[in-house]
Amino acid sequence: MLDLNIQLFAVPFHRVSKTRKRMRRAHNALTANGTVKCPNCGEAIRPHRVCAHCGYYKGKEVVKENEEK
Ligand SMILES: [Zn+2]
Repeated sequence: MLDLNIQLFAVPFHRVSKTRKRMRRAHNALTANGTVKCPNCGEAIRPHRVCAHCGYYKGKEVVKENEEK
């Protein structure tokens, strides 16, 4: 007996035009992650995280200089 193990999947019925493709991708742009300045050293850091540059968080040194590496 003929056993056709064919996987069916969606096939585009119409070619998507350049304009429609570009209109769809108009909303796909990435936005930059938010950064704030470290109040201790001024380095740009992610908010709510220990500063990777000076090891300070909320005005206290929580990671020692030699432990950073
Ligand atoms: Zn810092």
